[in-house]
Amino acid sequence: KIKVENLTKKFGNREVLKNISFDVKKSEVFVIMGGSGSGKSTVIKHIIGLLKPTSGKIYIDNVDITSLKDTELIEFRKKIGYLFQEGALFDSLKVWENVGFYYLENTKMPEKDIYNLAKEKLALVGLKDVEDLYPSQLSGGMRKRVSLARAISYNPEIILYDEPSSGLDPVTSAMIDKLILKLRDELGVTSIVVTHDLESAFSIADRIAMIHKGVIYAIGTPEEIKNHPDPVVQQFIRRSPE
Ligand code: ATP
Ligand code: MG
Repeated sequence: KIKVENLTKKFGNREVLKNISFDVKKSEVFVIMGGSGSGKSTVIKHIIGLLKPTSGKIYIDNVDITSLKDTELIEFRKKIGYLFQEGALFDSLKVWENVGFYYLENTKMPEKDIYNLAKEKLALVGLKDVEDLYPSQLSGGMRKRVSLARAISYNPEIILYDEPSSGLDPVTSAMIDKLILKLRDELGVTSIVVTHDLESAFSIADRIAMIHKGVIYAIGTPEEIKNHPDPVVQQFIRRSPE
């Protein structure tokens, strides 16, 4: 479904991704784990086509997205939901307009229906009575969840989550983890989840990739990662969760 092949990225002459390769199967929850600055967000941004590789290829459903024209890429992105690490809401739009943005932009669906759909998606991420507020009136964790509601709003086949639980309390984080699994089990969604929360990674992942300084050190099931002999991997997983 998703195939990353020898992805290398340089910013100036600094190489931040080094020959990265991995496959994500359909309906898999694939977790990318690694420390701050290791290159996790940069990988994700390539998969949605926000960044172009210095070298390497990325295939989604056998389409090489690195060679798509901008207009083709925009069309292609409709099958992908993306939760930005920073949330990235439109401050001038109300919560429901942020969640329903895809429908407001791309469809002729009546506003009332979009409003109701937004409410339904907000309920899935545990938010009630916020649809008429502006993002500035919400806490950081609530804004994060609004972004998540937006990412899932148009039922994408693939969802990329960049730190879905950062800034959330443990109960809300657990709820988001459950939602990720529910989308996989009930709708067959394929997910890539970036996190440095070990506990969450081990509980939701079908497979985990460990990245350090732009290099993948291990890919495997949670069990395989726990028992992986590489010292870099062991050092990371023995550290207490952040
Ligand atoms: P975090 O857990 O802190 O979010 P990360 O693993 O997501 O970290 P990235 O954001 O992918 O890390 O960044 C990897 C490296 O690439 C960092 O050293 C960062 O400074 C660098 N980098 C990222 N984006 C750019 C950019 N647009 N221009 C220059 N350097 C960049
Ligand atoms: Mg990041």
